[in-house]
Amino acid sequence: MTKKIAVLPGDGIGTEIIAEALKVLDVLKQDFGLKVETETALIGGAAYDATGTPFPEATLHLCRAADAVLLGAVGGPKWEPLDYSLRPERGLLGLRAELELFANLRPAILYPQLVAASTLKPEVVSGLDIMIIRELTGGIYFGQPRGRRVNDKGEREGFNTLFYNESEIRRIGHIAFQTARKRNRKLCSVDKANVLECTELWREVMIEVAKDYPDVVLTHMYVDNAAMQLVRAPKQFDVMVTENMFGDILSDCAAMLTGSIGMLPSASLDKNGKGMYEPIHGSAPDIAGKQLANPIATILSVAMMLRYSFNDAANAERVEQAVTRALDTGYRTADIYSEGTRKVGTTEMGDAIVAALRS
Ligand code: NAD
Repeated sequence: MTKKIAVLPGDGIGTEIIAEALKVLDVLKQDFGLKVETETALIGGAAYDATGTPFPEATLHLCRAADAVLLGAVGGPKWEPLDYSLRPERGLLGLRAELELFANLRPAILYPQLVAASTLKPEVVSGLDIMIIRELTGGIYFGQPRGRRVNDKGEREGFNTLFYNESEIRRIGHIAFQTARKRNRKLCSVDKANVLECTELWREVMIEVAKDYPDVVLTHMYVDNAAMQLVRAPKQFDVMVTENMFGDILSDCAAMLTGSIGMLPSASLDKNGKGMYEPIHGSAPDIAGKQLANPIATILSVAMMLRYSFNDAANAERVEQAVTRALDTGYRTADIYSEGTRKVGTTEMGDAIVAALRS
């Protein structure tokens, strides 16, 4: 049966990188029997400009009806003066919440061809392959009450709430243990249980969930130590699971171990495995429109979509191998360029991957 993909390019480099991902999907359709159709919709700043809201109803309808969502990125300085409720990022947070995409899977893999692009020593990062699982629809990004006010002394105050109930923790726990089972059966749960009651509960529930997975070794680490360990000795980790904000920060940190944020895909799944797939980076307004964006994170997000939502490991591997071959041939966008390789723009990198797919 033909699957439907909702495509949301968004803002900044979003449109450029999505164009390359669509080229890859076209080849899979033409040459490898993939049965998908795509439909594009607005989100973020582009949606605000066209409709007055960063998250139009029509976009939500399309995403609900689709089997999977492919997203570029949202945001940019143009929309920063807007009220929070109208900012591009609200579109993305709204979509994650409406579709109940509570499990964010972020692999951080260092390609051997890019060891030189990492800021860390080769012996620290070579062979790195971590999966960070971030809770995506709870925690401080969504907790109520939130806001700003002026107190009775005339002083401005800002406040947010870190909140989780046990079922939210339990369901991400199960995803994490099941993922660990498919890898090396090692799971590190990251919290700040020594200071925050909410994450004390997090730890308690993780220990309870662990009883269903006696074959997986569960360890715990405070988030400050986890940040330090990620840059000190990242290969000690296999699967990490953590709450929304800690995961946001740690996964960007892990991204840099791999050389560039432009290399890393992500999947955000609901309880039925329906997912939204997007690069972990943002809309990179500083390089938008300059052919400097690396499209690989988005193309690898397509591979994750094939694997997790469409159960199509063969085509997922084809895409991953095509990326490897393009890197082997020496193609590099500016963010991963090193001496002796061939610097190319966004489109040319997409073309190289498409050519590798067809070869
Ligand atoms: P960013 O990820 O957009 O950029 C950080 C740095 O990485 C920049 O120097 C950028 O040029 C570089 N970079 C990012 N993607 C790249 C790619 N594919 N190829 C090469 N270099 C790349 O983060 P930021 O600058 O903090 O945020 C810019 C805007 O993006 C903001 O409006 C922010 O809110 C938004 N944002 C959106 C998302 C999302 O849509 N999921 C995520 C993070 C930030």
